[in-house]
Amino acid sequence: MSGVFALLLLPPRRFAAAGLLSIGCCLSKVSGSDVLKATLADDATKKYGNQPPTLFSKIIDKSLPADIIYEDDQCLSFRDVNPQGPVHFLVIPKMAIPRISAATDDDKELLGHLLIVAKNIAKKEGLADGYRLVINDGKNGAQSVYHLHIHVIGGRQMSWPPG
Ligand code: AMP
Repeated sequence: MSGVFALLLLPPRRFAAAGLLSIGCCLSKVSGSDVLKATLADDATKKYGNQPPTLFSKIIDKSLPADIIYEDDQCLSFRDVNPQGPVHFLVIPKMAIPRISAATDDDKELLGHLLIVAKNIAKKEGLADGYRLVINDGKNGAQSVYHLHIHVIGGRQMSWPPG
């Protein structure tokens, strides 16, 4: 049922695509969340090519446990397993954009949403004195998981420049 609700939150184009997939799902007893997952994977493959699943895809589909602190139809947030401060969480899109440099103009709204979610959670986490947002990209950016994520680190004084 939550999958059906999630479908209703999709933007119109994705809703139409999910609708087509839903017809197939009626015949094969696939759940609404499976349809949503398939729709997101289909969108990502069309835009960014075939990608191997990452740890974060497994956190999204709940096959890998994580300390999830926020979820909506477009994104997920969970605590970093190796925190670099008293508070360290990640905000990731459900769509598997591999890295910020692979994002397109069409991702503008989604990327804005991730930032708004990040600052809303930071407020709930009590980071009133400030915090740092980091997006690592590629080799020189020291990216280790190729599923776009925003790090939100706070609860201590940061220094500059970063290492
Ligand atoms: P990056 O180096 O920017 O790609 O960051 C990847 C981040 O993901 C690192 O800070 C890791 O500690 C974190 N990470 C890796 N695996 C997990 C996991 N299973 N749950 C939570 N955080 C993770």
